[in-house]
Amino acid sequence: MTLKTPQEYLDDLRKMDIKLYMFGELVNGYVDHPMIRPSINAMAMTYQLAQDPEYEDLMTTTSSLTGRKINRFTHLHQSTDDLIKKVKMLRLLGQKTGCCFQRCVGMDAFNAVFNTTFEMDAKHGTRYHERFREYMKYVQDNDLTVDGCMTDARGDRSKSPGDQDDPDAYLRIVERRQNGIVVRGCKLHQTGMINSHEILVMPNNSLKETEKDWAVSFAIPVDTPGMVYVYGRQSSDTRKMEPGSIDKGNIYFGGQEIMTIFNDVFVPWERVFMNGETDFTTMLVERFAGYHRQSYGGCKVGVGDTLIGAAQAIAEYNGAAKASHVKDKIIEMCHLNETLYACGIACSAEGRKTAAGNYLIDLLLANICKQNVTRFPYEMSRLVQDIAGGYMVTMPSEQDFNHPEIGPLVAKYSTTRSDVPAEHRQRMLRYIENLTLGSGAVGYLTESMHGAGSPQAQRIMISRLVNLKHRKELAETLCGIRENCDVTW
Ligand code: SF4
Ligand code: FE
Repeated sequence: MTLKTPQEYLDDLRKMDIKLYMFGELVNGYVDHPMIRPSINAMAMTYQLAQDPEYEDLMTTTSSLTGRKINRFTHLHQSTDDLIKKVKMLRLLGQKTGCCFQRCVGMDAFNAVFNTTFEMDAKHGTRYHERFREYMKYVQDNDLTVDGCMTDARGDRSKSPGDQDDPDAYLRIVERRQNGIVVRGCKLHQTGMINSHEILVMPNNSLKETEKDWAVSFAIPVDTPGMVYVYGRQSSDTRKMEPGSIDKGNIYFGGQEIMTIFNDVFVPWERVFMNGETDFTTMLVERFAGYHRQSYGGCKVGVGDTLIGAAQAIAEYNGAAKASHVKDKIIEMCHLNETLYACGIACSAEGRKTAAGNYLIDLLLANICKQNVTRFPYEMSRLVQDIAGGYMVTMPSEQDFNHPEIGPLVAKYSTTRSDVPAEHRQRMLRYIENLTLGSGAVGYLTESMHGAGSPQAQRIMISRLVNLKHRKELAETLCGIRENCDVTW
């Protein structure tokens, strides 16, 4: 079986025995918890769409390792066409869920660990790549969701891992045994962690040669003994536990971020993919970040499509759709959204084959893509809030609309065009509120800012990757400072 159904995926989660805390209490049966379930539904869409013949070409492909049909979320990209299809797949998922559907982090980690371990083995004579290939076959054959896990707690930001007062501020190896390693630390902001089968850990940043204990990559099942999970809060998250559906905004789907604690967790050697190779941590971090910066040119665009749709709908419901400034604002939203998509496609089309055989995006263009993502969704949110009007944040609750006495009055004074039911306007405003102010804004805005690295991280990469000397020479040639050899006619 290489393609799981959503039901089989849910059955897998129900079998997991994990230690999860929320609101200071241990959570049992988290699959049916009303605050968690929307995020599981979003992840399940990655399984559902792979069953649909309409999306077969985008959602599934042939494994480069086994020749079997697999979900594209477990694929090692074999061409620039694969990279482009990845972006299209993420846009589709964003359109279908209107939120972060979480499965891409693992896909990006697979591809980065795959090509980095190959180059690490070539230099050091290690056997990590072979191990990782075996691991990937297991992931593909069982259609697993794997959480790529990078961001540490990081303690004092002015100090590197080895200089921290608390050495656990960055996840590290605390013991090396004959049969494996023991690790301790904490990874923050882990997207979709408890909706995953497995965790694939990577180091957080470049390391000094003396910081070998922090240079570690490995994979373990999510329910490994010693793992502790604490559910992250999101704005308006408890609306998911209220009766009714309207005030949720997005009534089916949502994101999930988890504080992930490794309390002296044992990892057998066959699951270790880096053990002290500090000279390869920069490559692994940059490649993973590059793949994930490409991802945002797909997922955020898909969610942006739903926001543009909401802007058009609410403008119509309000009777304002014909106003030229409203039309212009919606055009501006489309321009911003398609610019992000263009960046996602461009860094994919300009990708190249790595020594390991899988394809890497163009890193400069992927960083440009993500830099734009740190800005444009905010501008699009400003524009849709302008179009929506203030009622989005002053509107009474669903319970008030349903109240036998005041309900008819609330509906009467919430009505705009008489041919538009008050409830339609109510639902659309709540959807816009969810994405731009509520729990959906975690995925659409804050994640756009900080996910796959905060804006400054991209600027550092851009400064490293752009060839300014070449550009200076171009200018010097054209203005006659440098001798021009090209014009011979
Ligand atoms: Fe995927 Fe986007 Fe969520 Fe990252 S932010 S996991 S790319 S949906
Ligand atoms: Fe993300």
